[in-house]
Amino acid sequence: MILRVTQYGDPVLRKKGEKIEQFDARLEEFSRDMWETMGAYDGIGLAAPQVSVSISMCVVDMRVAQQSEVYNYRFDGKQPPIELLMPLVLIHPEIEFLGEAETVREEGCLSFPEIYGEVVRPEAIRVKFQDLKGAHHVLECDGLLGRVVQHEVDHLNGILFIDRMDRKALKPLDRPLKRLKKLTSTFLAEKSKNSAQPDQ
Ligand SMILES: [Zn+2]
Repeated sequence: MILRVTQYGDPVLRKKGEKIEQFDARLEEFSRDMWETMGAYDGIGLAAPQVSVSISMCVVDMRVAQQSEVYNYRFDGKQPPIELLMPLVLIHPEIEFLGEAETVREEGCLSFPEIYGEVVRPEAIRVKFQDLKGAHHVLECDGLLGRVVQHEVDHLNGILFIDRMDRKALKPLDRPLKRLKKLTSTFLAEKSKNSAQPDQ
């Protein structure tokens, strides 16, 4: 089932994702809905708060990225083909930066349609997380994969990519961001009005 992706201005995007207690069939079904939603929007990453579910879980799918993307990864110390690893579900992810190197790259976000800006991030990371069965894993990665994981894990902490942009990157986004926020608040007001009315 394709879920609605919530937009900038929705308070759920500022909430910290809650801890998951049950690694059950329902969680698996939700992960499939997240993959489907991510695919429908051609995204390479999606975090649960972006579909209005405030839990510590995100999905990444590098298969959508350009073939020319160069990045390194080690999953539990091995390097399985990326197709076998994706789509990847990360539950309770925790990031550690590896080294001092940083890179700048333009990013977008499914919660910010048509808004792009340059974000500086550490190049290489180690992320510890759990899978859908609750098993623990370690992924070391860099390049676009490292960047996507950082972007999605930020969502789980209520941090958005615009928070990571400097003044220069933000300046041209001033108006589009205000417009989007306004659209979202109109949408949310309509939604709460409709849900307050009894069914016809
Ligand atoms: Zn995002």
